[in-house]
Amino acid sequence: MPATPGTELYLKEVFSSLQGEGVFIGRRQLFVRLAQCNLACAYCDTDYAVTALWHAEEEPGGARGEDYPNPAAPAFLTALVARCLKQLPAHHSLALTGGEPLVQSQALAEWLPDLSQCLPVYLETNGTLPDAMERLLPFVSWVSLDIKLSGTTGVPTPWEAHAAFLEVSRPKACQAKIVIDASTTEEELVAAARLLRQHGPDLPLILQPRTVAGRPAFVGRQLLRLQALVASEHPATLVIPQMHPLLDIR
Ligand code: SF4
Repeated sequence: MPATPGTELYLKEVFSSLQGEGVFIGRRQLFVRLAQCNLACAYCDTDYAVTALWHAEEEPGGARGEDYPNPAAPAFLTALVARCLKQLPAHHSLALTGGEPLVQSQALAEWLPDLSQCLPVYLETNGTLPDAMERLLPFVSWVSLDIKLSGTTGVPTPWEAHAAFLEVSRPKACQAKIVIDASTTEEELVAAARLLRQHGPDLPLILQPRTVAGRPAFVGRQLLRLQALVASEHPATLVIPQMHPLLDIR
């Protein structure tokens, strides 16, 4: 899917929660979840379809909220973020997530310069749109990128796009993440570790067991064996499962 043109953003929701994955786990963040994605991973459980309305909490972490029409103007979103920060100043950062946020890079180029003055931006991306990343890099503080392995996603691994993305995002990248399950092959994991060694040698590589029915689906000795295998190529390899289901939060 090409980048969506326009200066307004298609959203799914805005809410305050704890980061549940990777090296920022446990940090309080304001999440802005955007609609649309350029991939179709087999394990995807995220609803990223564009809808007429999107939802925002009335107060950070509260149960009540309000629906707003899509698309949303950047100025309106900046005001909404400012309101959330006034209600709860102690947010570490704003997590820009999806879907794939970089699909809407044109509208983000309108919004991020203002937004990044309010709160540092932590971008969660599938790491496949290097040109869009290059354009937005000055306005984000951290980039968390996924490496999408075909054994798990069911679509060909975009090796070239990942390599280009790693190079472009290098000044701001804070981690590379791989979702693993029983169908992940050792060959692809080793290839991913080598890719990182070449294009992001200082980057922590997070192996994240896929969550099924609220539990990590891949556990035990097999996990230890895979971590050792990947760490032999890229020593900074960590295993961190998703935290949200354990705490019953989004
Ligand atoms: S990149 Fe993320 S949001 Fe897009 S299909 Fe894959 S898992 Fe779903």
